[in-house]
Amino acid sequence: MKQLVLAGAGHAHAQVLLAWAKAPLPGVNLTVVSPHALAPYSGMVPGWLAGRYRFESICIDFQALCRAAGAHWVGGSVARLDASRRQLWLDDGQSLHYDVLSLNIGSTLRPPDLPGSLVLPLRPLGSLANRWNTVLRGWQQAPPQERRPLAVTAVGAGAAGFESVMAVVQRLRRMQPERTVLGRLVSRGDHWLKGASEPARRRARRALERADISLQLNQDVSPQALAHASPMGQLVLWATGAQAHDWLTDESRRPGLAVTPDGFVRVDNCLRSVSHPNVLASGDCAHWDSPLPDGAQGLAKAGVFAVRMGPLLWHNLRAVLSVGEPRPYRPQRDYLVLLSTADGSAIASRGRWGFSGPWVWRWKDKIDREFVGRFR
Ligand SMILES: Cc1cc2nc3c(=O)[nH]c(=O)nc-3n(C[C@H](O)[C@H](O)[C@H](O)COP(=O)(O)OP(=O)(O)OC[C@H]3O[C@@H](n4cnc5c(N)ncnc54)[C@H](O)[C@@H]3O)c2cc1C
Repeated sequence: MKQLVLAGAGHAHAQVLLAWAKAPLPGVNLTVVSPHALAPYSGMVPGWLAGRYRFESICIDFQALCRAAGAHWVGGSVARLDASRRQLWLDDGQSLHYDVLSLNIGSTLRPPDLPGSLVLPLRPLGSLANRWNTVLRGWQQAPPQERRPLAVTAVGAGAAGFESVMAVVQRLRRMQPERTVLGRLVSRGDHWLKGASEPARRRARRALERADISLQLNQDVSPQALAHASPMGQLVLWATGAQAHDWLTDESRRPGLAVTPDGFVRVDNCLRSVSHPNVLASGDCAHWDSPLPDGAQGLAKAGVFAVRMGPLLWHNLRAVLSVGEPRPYRPQRDYLVLLSTADGSAIASRGRWGFSGPWVWRWKDKIDREFVGRFR
């Protein structure tokens, strides 16, 4: 029997598992490794932060999917990989042999130490649930003498920073209207919502104003800058650019595997590692090595790519396991971005267009529920 190992409960792997449940490959054992059985779907995370969804309803249950697909589920994280020996090790020391390995392990964030502030890194998504529940409990249960005003700062003005500050600030205010919650969205650069159209950005600007959240560009968030805001409590939503997981940034833990200087797995246009074609990578953890039509370097770390790569990953895994020819992935030039504003409305952006309104939220909600519903 050949061994196929899927590492990570990412968006592309969910689709591979679904396809496997319908048409498993004869002569191949499938094993799935990930630290959490419940994998949140990124498009619904802001709605969950805003209190519109329960956590379970935004998640894909990988353990249940494995049962349905006849795959073996292993709870754990890959901590080391020897691609020349086709062997990987988990954080508990367990080792697994594979013939073909697929990595869809997402990305992480390493926020700096900000003494006096409660820092909530928005990636990895799997660890966010516990942290957010702790914040909510603290907010709800604080005794009256500790009910200080709170400043919520989202660091990183991409889609994740924008959506999360809108969701968190408005939810905390709704929960305790008598308490002061200040909100701000901060970016080191002079750009924000990169990739969104100008009309969409204007609508996002108005949504921030409606929610009384300030936008501060060309600003660095330092412990000193936050200390100035005392005696307020500080909650920092860390939403800067995606970073590769530790074991990928450390050469001794993945000898020989080709990665970028910052640890993303370099793949060809068929999602195969450029150093080890029996290792495939998709979604945030992969770096697209091929030229892009607009001359850009790599693809954006966005869930939309991880989702789109799923069907092609399934095709190419079968090809590497010797059923057919691999097909190249053709990244879209522009794609639909739907941003929730956590006030019953959402913003749509595609190409030069931008729209907003409650109907956009209903549309987004329908698309997202249908996506997650496919895996139930
Ligand atoms: C608040 C927020 C909102 C966002 N909204 C959008 C949006 O609306 N649209 C959009 O396109 N993008 C959005 N993004 C970006 C999006 O979250 C990511 O690009 C997307 O989740 C990447 O998907 P993935 O399949 O690569 O990995 P993930 O969905 O992150 O899944 C990775 C999986 O691998 C597991 N894993 C991690 N390490 C290991 C390991 N060592 N071994 C085994 N398993 C491991 C994780 O537990 C997880 O299950 C948002 C991000 C945030 C933070």
